Amino acid sequence: MSDTQAAKSRSVLISGASIAGPATAYWLDRYGFDVTVVERAAAVRSGGYPIDVRGTAIDVVERMGVLPQLRSAHIDTRKLTFADADGHPIATVAPEALAGGVTARHIELPRGQLTSVLYALTRERNVRYRFDDSIDALKDDGTGVDVRFRSGAQQRFDLVIGADGMHSNTRALVFGPEAPFNRYLGFCFNLFSLPNDLGLAHEAVVYAEPGRLAGVYAVGDTPTLQAFLNFATDEPPFLSHADVDGQRRHTADIFRHGGWEIPRLLAAMQRADNLFFDTVSQIHMPRWSSGRVVLVGDAAHAPSFLSGQGSSLALVGAYVLAGELAAHADPVDAFASYERITRPFMEANQALASREGARLLMPRTPEELEARNAALAAMQTSGATSHGEHASQVYNSLRLPDYREKASLGATP
Ligand SMILES: Cc1cc2nc3c(=O)[nH]c(=O)nc-3n(C[C@H](O)[C@H](O)[C@H](O)COP(=O)(O)OP(=O)(O)OC[C@H]3O[C@@H](n4cnc5c(N)ncnc54)[C@H](O)[C@@H]3O)c2cc1C
Repeated sequence: MSDTQAAKSRSVLISGASIAGPATAYWLDRYGFDVTVVERAAAVRSGGYPIDVRGTAIDVVERMGVLPQLRSAHIDTRKLTFADADGHPIATVAPEALAGGVTARHIELPRGQLTSVLYALTRERNVRYRFDDSIDALKDDGTGVDVRFRSGAQQRFDLVIGADGMHSNTRALVFGPEAPFNRYLGFCFNLFSLPNDLGLAHEAVVYAEPGRLAGVYAVGDTPTLQAFLNFATDEPPFLSHADVDGQRRHTADIFRHGGWEIPRLLAAMQRADNLFFDTVSQIHMPRWSSGRVVLVGDAAHAPSFLSGQGSSLALVGAYVLAGELAAHADPVDAFASYERITRPFMEANQALASREGARLLMPRTPEELEARNAALAAMQTSGATSHGEHASQVYNSLRLPDYREKASLGATP
């Protein structure tokens, strides 16, 4: 049996329809796999915060044919202002000075726009979606995986792929609880939106006090601002994901004497219906697969938003995982090859976000705040950092394998 015949006979269930899920679905469909995606939410979730596609991930979206579309959604953030308690600028820097941007190899766009483009791409093909559902149980018997869905439906698949994010359900079902894999970086974040009463466009303004960081981000020239209230804490607070009132109370208490625009942000947080609270953490796993189940994207190796690389890693992982599955008749060989090719790249990108690095962004003590302000002033003068240059090398450090021959053999063009 040829590889392509093997692919056609293989059914795949992907859990999660954000970035890693639809990207993997797209490539697997091109290689002739029979693909179903299950998503817990009722639809592809929008969410306006900005994400980055850069480095090697630019090659992936180019091969998917969506590079021009994504480029036209580029936000073009022009400046990042660090303000003092009275709103006066301490320093203003170009975003690429902090994140190693190389404009030709970097697109910044609202997360919802990337997920919509990927979703639309798969809808043009043969990918099936089950929204408002989730995997309740799975049993891998070595020749296939029996899946029971929360809706009660049952189905057997040849392979299951967990693309369900940092708190992956698939990972929990196969590898156990998250705690041993979660590396907490010492911060929590709150994200929400508010009306753009400050008249900002294409820019972000950030204000820091020891252990607290607040900011607003004008994603382009829009009537809405994305706001964040982040705080340092040695141990993550015991707040469940469902306890939104508890998250509001905890955050309001931490920021209660804050300067700058913090009172306005706290009032907006109380009203916001899209509060997104979580710890700043990474996922580190000794293996990304077990039998016929494999993880991709944040589920396998979340780098945390401090690296700004989560979406790019998800796209690269999706491309290589699908390509290796098309190239190997035995999924266990494919999973091993996927991990061998991509693990050094994923780990190098995760290393860009350390507890130490986070202190530049979010100082915990008055001394660290002073050191940060001095570093920002230097950056304002020179326009670049050694971190920026190093990061840029890491973003581009994987050369993608070429699976084009496999794609042209796939079931549909
Ligand atoms: C505040 C914040 C800021 C960020 N900023 C950036 C940035 O600047 N640049 C950048 O590149 N990245 C950024 N990221 C990270 C980026 O959003 C993620 O790394 C990226 O979305 C990973 O994609 P993913 O598809 O692996 O997982 P996710 O985007 O987390 O998607 C997981 C999907 O699985 C679904 N799901 C969850 N559980 C289940 C279940 N039980 N059953 C079915 N479906 C389920 C979810 O609804 C979701 O659709 C940021 C993240 C956050 C939280």
